This record gives sequence, C-alpha cells and structure tokens, in this order.
Amino acid sequence: MLDFKNREHYDVIVAGASFAGLSVVSRITRGKVLLIDRHEIGSHQASACGTTVKMVKDVGCEKSILQTFDTMALHVKEKETDFYMPRYCTINYEKFCKILAEKGSAEFLLADAKGVSGSKVITSKGAFTADIIVDCTGWPAALASSVKKEYGNRDMVSFGLETEIPYKKDKKLRFFIDKDIIKDGVAWLFPCGRTARFGVASYTGDSKLQSNLERFVGSYGLKVGEIHGGFFCYCLKDPIVNNMFVVGCAAGQTLPLSGEGIRRSVYFGLNCGDIIQNVVDGKLTLAQGLEKYRKMALKTDKKYNDLLTLQNSLLKMSNWELNLITEVISIGPITKWIWGKYSRI
Ligand SMILES: Cc1cc2nc3c(=O)[nH]c(=O)nc-3n(C[C@H](O)[C@H](O)[C@H](O)COP(=O)(O)OP(=O)(O)OC[C@H]3O[C@@H](n4cnc5c(N)ncnc54)[C@H](O)[C@@H]3O)c2cc1C
Repeated sequence: MLDFKNREHYDVIVAGASFAGLSVVSRITRGKVLLIDRHEIGSHQASACGTTVKMVKDVGCEKSILQTFDTMALHVKEKETDFYMPRYCTINYEKFCKILAEKGSAEFLLADAKGVSGSKVITSKGAFTADIIVDCTGWPAALASSVKKEYGNRDMVSFGLETEIPYKKDKKLRFFIDKDIIKDGVAWLFPCGRTARFGVASYTGDSKLQSNLERFVGSYGLKVGEIHGGFFCYCLKDPIVNNMFVVGCAAGQTLPLSGEGIRRSVYFGLNCGDIIQNVVDGKLTLAQGLEKYRKMALKTDKKYNDLLTLQNSLLKMSNWELNLITEVISIGPITKWIWGKYSRI
C-alpha cells in the first residue's frame, strides 16, 4: 500500500491501467514503479474484447478466454459470407487485466491523472515525481495533452457502444456492414459462451448511437442491457511528447477499419516496457530509449495509412460493391493471404 504522506520519487510513473499501461508495467521488474488509474484495475470494460488467442497466450492470460473462433461471418445487408480466420477469442476484461497486473511490481494508485509539469505528475491525490513518465490513458491522452493541447483532439476518433446480454451459443465472430443499422460504421456480435456482445461503432466519431444499438439488438428479438463503450483513436501519432512515452490508444495505436486496438496496445506496451527497463538499468539513456520506442512505434505507419484508406473507401461503397468484394476475399487462398498481411501489423 502507498504511504501518501511520504510522496517519494519513482523511477517510472505510468498513467492508465488498461491494455497498454498494464503491458508496460508487466515488463518492468527492477525499479520503483507507480501505476495510476481513476478506476480499480479491470473494473471498467469499454471494449468488445475480441483479440487473438496467440497474444492472450503470449502474455500468459489464457484463463481470461471466454470463447474461441476460427470463422468470421461478414453480413452485408441480409447476405452472410463466412471467412476462415486465425484463432480469435473473446476475453473477460477483468480477468485479463488482473492477471497482467500481477506480472509487474508496480504500486497502484487510484486517482485521476490531471497532467504533467516537468518531472511531476499531478493527480487528484497530489503530485508525484519520476524520471520516466508514460501516458496510457486512452484517446484523450490526459498527460500528453496537458503539455501539447492538440495531442488528444477528436479529429480521428471512432466511437463505439456495446451491450452484453444472454444469447444462444454461436460459433462465429460476426461483423455487419449495413446502413440500416449504422450508416457510417460497422456493427458486431461477439459471442462469449452464454452471452454475446452486441455493438455498433461510428468511424466518424458520432456518439449518439443508442438508438442504432437498440435497433440492432431488437432485430434479434432482444433488448439492450447495460451499455459501455467510448472513443478510440485510429490516427498513429508521434508517441513521444516532451520526453514522455505515449502508448496504446493515447498514441492512436488502434487500427483503422477493424478498430482492433488490444493486440496493438499490448504489443507496443510490452516493447515500451522492455525499453524502459533498459533505461532503468542504465543500459540506455532516456534519450536513446525514447528514440528507440519512437522508431519501433512508427514502423507500421504505412500499414495504418493503408487501413485508413480502406476504412474511408468502405464508407462510400454500395451494398452491391461490398458483396462483390466480400465474395472475392472469401476465396480461401485470398483470405489466407489477407490475414497473413493483417496479422503482421
Ligand atoms: C465499444 C468498443 C469496442 C471495441 N472492441 C474491440 C475489440 O473487440 N478488439 C480490440 O482489439 N479492440 C477493441 N476496441 C478498441 C480497444 O478497446 C482500444 O484500442 C483499447 O482499449 C486501447 O487500450 P489502452 O490501454 O490504450 O486504452 P484504454 O483501454 O482506453 O484504457 C485507458 C485507461 O486509462 C484510464 N484513464 C483514462 N484517463 C485517466 C486519467 N485522467 N487518470 C487516470 N486514469 C485514466 C482509464 O480508466 C483506463 O483504464 C473497442 C473499443 C470500443 C470503444
């Protein structure tokens, strides 16, 4: 437990204890680390939590898996096309976060991170100093935007809304492109054993989606339950702001088109954590560590742009065009080739 009267200096402070922040701290085992979040770890799920089985196993969180899939169904209007997919799964967010949190040695502080001033992180429970500061607070990038205002702007954000309700067993991960459900985005149905996550997302960041979600869930003869969701940023940004590391959705690392951000946040988080451990150990200077992380994080820049082009094109396509493309990409070898490329991003 932290002794708040004795506000010591930390080697590393990480704000945000979700996919990105927990991955960062899971790799720092030597040094004094403070992890800050405004919510208890794992208590605020925002996402549908569909991700690859490989990633979940790689980070030792397989106990969080709810259901696995090797088929994805794409629904364009009433037409359903099935695709092979590398093994994906739905996970229990709370379990995933708690297992990951056990891997690091960070102290946890339940507080609002309000901003940064030099080496000081200002929180609702006072200020704490650190040699290394990491912002993993999701799209508003609470720390980075306190020193660079425009960093957390709403220019390139999607918005998603979701409900998890009891549902019959279903073996497919389902996506829907249907302007009657949502005109500028996609909908999904992700089974989780005896429940399913029904969601809608707008690529243009329209946050008034409750009626779309109700219509979508209603088309299955069901009613919306508790709702969660939020914004996610898909514009890859410079992940270094004033000597601060920025990781995950805060740095726009969620993929355009698919909205897949968990795998990316974990990947960048683990790499960032390794780099930070080297800085703490004195094997790299902070400047070298920052530069190494920046290079790594921006390596996939072109692939993000390609996905963004596809996302923008999708919005302009007619159902006829979408069905034609779906037919082509559902051909076995083509599907495999696409997944091969996509999984490497
Ligand atoms: C409805 C929806 C469905 C999605 N479905 C999927 C999916 O199925 N698969 C997938 O891969 N991606 C999905 N995504 C995207 C994915 O959720 C994000 O890419 C991912 O959560 C990013 O992780 P992160 O750790 O960077 O940020 P977040 O998960 O957003 O975590 C940010 C953390 O910072 C904390 N925080 C924020 N501000 C402060 C502050 N000022 N002080 C202290 N703490 C703060 C928050 O409490 C939170 O714990 C979905 C997103 C939404 C909205």
